[in-house]
Amino acid sequence: MSARVLVVDDVLANVKLLEARLSAEYFDVVTANCGTQALEICERAECDIVLLDVMMPDIDGFEVCRRLKSNPKTHFIPVIMVTALDSPSDRVRGLDAGADDFLTKPVSDVVMIARVRSLTRLKMMTDELRMRAITSLEIGVNAPERTAVADDGKGGRILLVDDRPSSYERLAPVLATEHHVDVEPNPAEAVFHAAEGDYDLLIVSLGLENFDGLRLCSQARSLERTRSVPILAIADAENNNSARLLRGLEIGVNDYLLRPVDKNELLARARTQIRKRRYTDHLRDNVQNSIEMAITDPLTGLHNRRYMESHLATLAEQASLRAKPLALMLLDIDYFKSINDTYGHDAGDDVLREFAMRIRKSIRGIDLACRYGGEEFVVVMPETDLHVAGMVAERLRRSIAGEPFAVEKGAKRIDVTISIGISTLETKGEAIGDVLKRADQALYRAKNDGRNRVVAAAA
Ligand code: GH3
Ligand code: MG
Ligand code: MG
Repeated sequence: MSARVLVVDDVLANVKLLEARLSAEYFDVVTANCGTQALEICERAECDIVLLDVMMPDIDGFEVCRRLKSNPKTHFIPVIMVTALDSPSDRVRGLDAGADDFLTKPVSDVVMIARVRSLTRLKMMTDELRMRAITSLEIGVNAPERTAVADDGKGGRILLVDDRPSSYERLAPVLATEHHVDVEPNPAEAVFHAAEGDYDLLIVSLGLENFDGLRLCSQARSLERTRSVPILAIADAENNNSARLLRGLEIGVNDYLLRPVDKNELLARARTQIRKRRYTDHLRDNVQNSIEMAITDPLTGLHNRRYMESHLATLAEQASLRAKPLALMLLDIDYFKSINDTYGHDAGDDVLREFAMRIRKSIRGIDLACRYGGEEFVVVMPETDLHVAGMVAERLRRSIAGEPFAVEKGAKRIDVTISIGISTLETKGEAIGDVLKRADQALYRAKNDGRNRVVAAAA
């Protein structure tokens, strides 16, 4: 899928030039000749990325950028500022306005395409995460865009990999004014150091004395623990360096600076990367939360019925394939209705929570416990036959009946008993629903035979 690029410039010739180059690389291009028009297009969500000229008559590029970044609707659209002069102060102003990157005129084709590609890729990823996180927004969890708008990008944890004291002794104190900085002067140790520390940003010097900085970047990208940590490369401003920088961007370096490093530019770029990092982390946590909420029973913290049913099929399949037994127990609290009636619904809830805890304590890590309904629970036990399942069930039954349950914050203690029906997956390929049904029949007999007992299903 091709990204849609908005090119903003008041000079028609500039617009045409960038449009032609981007179209040649199969990007969709929309254009605007002033800041107001650009803001309207972004507000209508009609583009994935903005190439923004600085000098414009109505609203200048810095102001357009600032408005885009402070509006939750457009905040996540990446902005590349196109500056006329290679002036560090313009870069700093742009990055302070929230620009994700900048290009200087005359614009180099390769660098422009590389930057547009890497930023649109990042945007698609965050779009995807944001869509999935909408569920959490709907149930009132803090909107991640708002948090990102408020984040100033300071207070990050940075690992600076640089083996030249003359360089890191200058850079580290600058970074330390806003962040926590560790210096790693040994490049061979850097990836391990990075994987162990919980860093928000890696800054890697490409001009290392005895080590290829790009190799380091690529190692960091291939390691699970450092894969999503942004990398800011620092390169020497030599002529032959642009090919190396391009390689770096392809490998997954997120941004770079050229020496001599401007202090403000270093700080601004570090902040941008750290903000992005926190934003994606935040979204990821939200997704994680909403997934957990969808499969967890909120009262007991056990898996819910929906999760159990979908996972049970997988477990049954595995057991059949490996010719291993699989046991299932269905547990039901005896006369639970009268516990509610006598002590109140809250006390009933306390009993359910405590019951879930006791279940957890008496099963193994690979066993799957879930709340199947009101006061009915299921435990699935892989690689367990009927005999062993019977022992586990009996132990659990005793742990319930043998120790009264505390309710009303410990003010009262009540006796609780449970009935359990157990069954196992008998024949290869038996429908798991049938195994559950037999456990249910066994449970029914346990109830009929007087409760507080374990009954195994007939094979
Ligand atoms: P039996 O020994 O035959 O299982 O009797 P019982 O009273 O336990 O069974 P019954 O199915 O008649 O009643 C179950 C009760 O569980 C009814 C329902 O109000 C209560 N219940 C279901 N979910 C919850 C819950 O989340 N919290 C509380 N406190 N009670 C619940
Ligand atoms: Mg009951
Ligand atoms: Mg019941």
